Amino acid sequence: MDEKVLSIDKTTLEMLDKAKKDGVKTAWDRKAELKAACGFGAAGVCCRNCNLGPCRVSPVPGKGVERGICGADAGVIVSRNFARMVAGGAAAHSDHGRSIALELYHTSPDGDIKVKDEKKLMKVAKRFNVPTEGRDIYDIAHDVAQAGLNDFGRQMGEVNFPPTLPKKRKEIWDNLGITPRGFDREVVSIMHSTHIGCMADAEPMIKMALRCGLADGWMGSYMATEFSDIMFGTPKSIDTEANLGVLGGNSVNIVLHGHEPSLSEMIVQAAEEPEMIALAKEQGADGINLCGMCCTANEATMRHGIKLAGNFMQQELAVVTGAVEALVVDVQCIFPALAKLSESYHTKFITTSPKAYIKGSVRMEMDEEHPLQTAREIVKAAIMNFKNRDKSKVMIPELKSEAIVGYSTEEILNKLDGVVNSQIGPMQTTKPLGDVIVAGVLRGAAGVVGCNNPKVQHDFGHIETIKGLIKNDIIVVVTGCAAQAAAKAGLLKKEARELAGPGLKKVCELVDIPPVLHMGSCVDISRILELVGSVANQLGTDISDLPVVGVAPEWMSEKAVSIGCYVVASGIDTWLGVVPPVTGSPEVVDILTNKMEDWLGAKFFIQPDPHKAVDEIVNRINEKRKKLGI
Ligand code: SF4
Ligand code: SF4
Repeated sequence: MDEKVLSIDKTTLEMLDKAKKDGVKTAWDRKAELKAACGFGAAGVCCRNCNLGPCRVSPVPGKGVERGICGADAGVIVSRNFARMVAGGAAAHSDHGRSIALELYHTSPDGDIKVKDEKKLMKVAKRFNVPTEGRDIYDIAHDVAQAGLNDFGRQMGEVNFPPTLPKKRKEIWDNLGITPRGFDREVVSIMHSTHIGCMADAEPMIKMALRCGLADGWMGSYMATEFSDIMFGTPKSIDTEANLGVLGGNSVNIVLHGHEPSLSEMIVQAAEEPEMIALAKEQGADGINLCGMCCTANEATMRHGIKLAGNFMQQELAVVTGAVEALVVDVQCIFPALAKLSESYHTKFITTSPKAYIKGSVRMEMDEEHPLQTAREIVKAAIMNFKNRDKSKVMIPELKSEAIVGYSTEEILNKLDGVVNSQIGPMQTTKPLGDVIVAGVLRGAAGVVGCNNPKVQHDFGHIETIKGLIKNDIIVVVTGCAAQAAAKAGLLKKEARELAGPGLKKVCELVDIPPVLHMGSCVDISRILELVGSVANQLGTDISDLPVVGVAPEWMSEKAVSIGCYVVASGIDTWLGVVPPVTGSPEVVDILTNKMEDWLGAKFFIQPDPHKAVDEIVNRINEKRKKLGI
């Protein structure tokens, strides 16, 4: 196997070489061992929703077996499988959001988790109709948390949508019958309707998937982001570094991996305590070096500038460096393979969430009432493991890149204020962004998001897409593992504006920003919704009128499918760089890539070639601009 083709990232290739020498396997090896994927699964036409089956029908219409034992045809099976992916993804975000809401509910002035951003609390309280006048901050926080939690399981009445949701968009949802009613309810509805003998019509099935996705984007993920900001602080631009080269040669390296910010927040606090630093020095280390992986990294870097060790496909490679004392995880996107891999090195693989125990890991469950105490124990375990490091096995790649992160919506508004005449105003609005888009200085905006996937060359899709877009004066915002790819490639530096087209370059100079803005983790895609919703409201249009697109060049998770659904249902065209398992039903493909446009003013585009995707995006954005008369 020629490893050069596996990744465009040099440190990844170096570490893959080392893994081979060390005789350990990675996800790329396991992918190769699996050989060609099953064609029925890849096309989405196998069903095992009941024990009459499993059934698999022909992915080619008119040829072979057309129906499962119950009579479900390819359209039914594919649409049900697709909807279940959305439910799985939305459920992950739902549980993440719920944990955050419960943490907000339990905040107290003398607890480990406090209210850090009162201004944001007031803003969120207003949208949940929670009274604030003359009230104790913590009473307000608890009421906000309660109101949010009510929307997870709401049975009657309307949920609270944020004011950034344009009226016209909401009307479209109401007319289509896809306005979410309660987050958990939408997940359950899909699990019910995909049961044998329920929904057997692709179109309403996909509409249910959209409704569930919308509950994710505009409810659960939105709340997760808002409530995290309230407790842990709203991000502001901050410098950091990215790639496996951020591991310290003589430091206690702790890699935080997973999703929920509370774990990383507590560990950041614990690792800064003087006693911990002294203990690390006693063990012969220079200090404690915290770095992150996947979305936990994004949360911690946005708020503290914690270094980004890498993205999804690099999680095993961090261990392969031989320099990680502890790999600490909570939930989602954590390879179970890490348990076995860690046995070949001194790394302690520590699981902390009862939602994601992994056999072979060291379990150190976060004590919900005293999370800081658990974090201290974890940091201590990492420090005491430093002496077990086998120097002969250590190889830390030299490569790392500088990056600026921390562009929350609030921070973007702060930056935009820099180009507003304070005597004329208005301040703290998206007007300058709307103005440059209307004027054509910026052709449009794109959110590049999502995972890594060994079906495609690691990071290639992310980087080629982003470079192509900024060259065409399309400003890019990034989240998730796409953001880390951009950070590693140096695209989150202000100097990257040299790669941008003239309009974007000028805007970056005036506003003093990089051409690619890191907006956070996967749940923080709600920040992108907040931003585009605000621009649409300010221009008096709907989101689908704006020259804005979403791209997931290397997506892999069910969460990404849920995200794709809510982005399209919000009126944003979405490009997928990896083909979803829907090709076995021409009807479903037609709904996703064609019909949706009539319903929502936006649709999916499937384009594995990032260069072609950029051309398609530029054309589509030009069309939208023409329609808008700008
Ligand atoms: S639900 Fe229908 S298609 Fe699916 S396994 Fe059962 S019988 Fe087969
Ligand atoms: S972008 Fe994808 S791989 Fe990365 S953390 Fe999010 S869901 Fe997981």
